[in-house]
Amino acid sequence: MSPNKQFILLGPPGSGKGTQAKFLAAKLRVPHISTGEIFRDHISRQTDLGKEVDNILKQGLLVSDDITNKIVADRLNQADAVPGFVLDGYPRNLVQAAFLNESTMNVQALDLELSDDEAVKRISRRWTCSVCGAIYHLDFKPPQNSGICDIDNTPLSQRSDQAENIVRDRLVIYHKQTEPLLAYYKREGRLIVIDGTPPIPQVTENINKVLQI
Ligand code: ADP
Ligand code: ADP
Repeated sequence: MSPNKQFILLGPPGSGKGTQAKFLAAKLRVPHISTGEIFRDHISRQTDLGKEVDNILKQGLLVSDDITNKIVADRLNQADAVPGFVLDGYPRNLVQAAFLNESTMNVQALDLELSDDEAVKRISRRWTCSVCGAIYHLDFKPPQNSGICDIDNTPLSQRSDQAENIVRDRLVIYHKQTEPLLAYYKREGRLIVIDGTPPIPQVTENINKVLQI
């Protein structure tokens, strides 16, 4: 496995992880793996796993490490992830980071920094395509035709965890459980911090520049 194509994206909900992970994965020709998307897919297909995690996602709480680590291990074992991957939304705490460390050689962490207030603003106006996963924003990345996905014409939807009180709860969990990962990856010399505030193309350019890709 080429060690320099293993990326994880850190940053609060709304910081642009999904948006940038898609660009980075396409550029590196490796899969974009979003644990949130995997869970939402199970929920929409009403699988056993989907039924188990539905309420947890609605409340903005974290799914257990056992379940999450297993779905990530299964996904990383698929052939397309052998050359590398862009993980988005995982790891979310130190237990998950330690688990990832056991099966990967040289993960590079990218941290997208954003204030809580900005994150809330972004999430409340986020719309997504439930079929292809494209991410839109009513002000910053509107679809060409209102309410319709540019890629496959699916009507866009909003997630069930984006009410302001739930987003604030998710931010509290982020600061408490996920933020310690920044110190963890920094200590290991594997952290790159990116300002998540500029417009989307600017953030993409800054990531590409720092990674020299
Ligand atoms: P965002 O990037 O907006 O925070 P995600 O799509 O990454 O949202 O995650 C949505 C939800 O899926 C989380 O609130 C949580 O319930 C669940 N989830 C996603 N990734 C993980 C993870 N690594 N560990 C535990 N729960 C997770
Ligand atoms: P995350 O995966 O970290 O929760 P998303 O990629 O889903 O974040 O982005 C959250 C919302 O903010 C989406 O509506 C997206 O279109 C928008 N967005 C992402 N990056 C930026 C940016 N740099 N400037 C303005 N809006 C952005």
